[in-house]
Amino acid sequence: MHAQLIDGKALAAAVKAEAAAETASLQAAGVTPCLAVILVGEDPASQVYVRGKIRDCAECGIRSLELRLPETTTQQELLDRIAALASDSTVHGILVQLPLPAGIDERAIIDAIPPEKDVDGFSPVNVGRMQTGQPCFLPCTPAGCIRMIESTGTVIDGKHAVVIGRSNIVGKPVAQLLLARNATVTICHSHTRNLRELCAQADILVAAVGHEAFVDGSMIKPGAVVIDVGINRGSDGKLHGDVNFAQAAERAAFLTPVPGGVGPMTRAMLMKNTTQAAAMQNGLSLEKMS
Ligand code: NAD
Repeated sequence: MHAQLIDGKALAAAVKAEAAAETASLQAAGVTPCLAVILVGEDPASQVYVRGKIRDCAECGIRSLELRLPETTTQQELLDRIAALASDSTVHGILVQLPLPAGIDERAIIDAIPPEKDVDGFSPVNVGRMQTGQPCFLPCTPAGCIRMIESTGTVIDGKHAVVIGRSNIVGKPVAQLLLARNATVTICHSHTRNLRELCAQADILVAAVGHEAFVDGSMIKPGAVVIDVGINRGSDGKLHGDVNFAQAAERAAFLTPVPGGVGPMTRAMLMKNTTQAAAMQNGLSLEKMS
């Protein structure tokens, strides 16, 4: 193996330590950051994710509210819960765990979260602010990817970055963040014709497809930085990324593992967004407090 691993767990621990220090500063100023997490239904993976977020809050000193609602919850009931949290000044971040049960319009729910409490960064206002380079809550997975690339010392400016996937939560925003750092960005998706050739030209390759081992060694330019966002449950019952790890490790300069890569960083970035939300809503600046 030649590639150097980008250790998501270690980086996430450092980011959470930053969030914990920010929480301590906020508490000294009389503000306890608080994240409300809403889980509708019994989806097993969602339950694991929510438990993780609640645990992260505790680790960082952030207060958390966990609202577990039954599968039968109506859209209006969920909207009412969001409205109550929106008007509660002790709650700074509101996160609705996706996916939602059939019959609830995800877009309507995301739109109902006030932008200043939208710590997932999914609301149209935050997406628009990100596109136009204004201060906003960055979506956690894409922000985590950028932090991981930067942790390698790689200069993004001028590099060719290829992103596989164009979802609203990963592909599109990660491409936007790379563009904002002056990368030349190619977005590949299910209709892309010469995907293999494009990937093989990437100095930075971000895979967010959702297909196990989609990226093989021949699709990786020697010396590339490879960020594997995929989380796929393999036939062996274990979690695997979108990248063939063994093959990628022979060609890439830097590579994220799955698990232990982008996943922990995503969770850590949520803690940073929550402290940021608490500071903003109380007219405080974390930069000035540190
Ligand atoms: P999605 O299904 O919404 O999007 C997948 C994208 O891949 C689509 O844009 C599609 O065009 C593209 N795609 C599908 N098949 C393709 C093909 N054959 N060739 C080229 N492109 C193709 O998924 P998502 O929500 O963006 O998530 C992607 C992966 O990342 C999933 O495995 C998901 O579990 C994982 N994920 C991980 C984290 C994390 O914290 N690590 C966070 C979010 C998502």
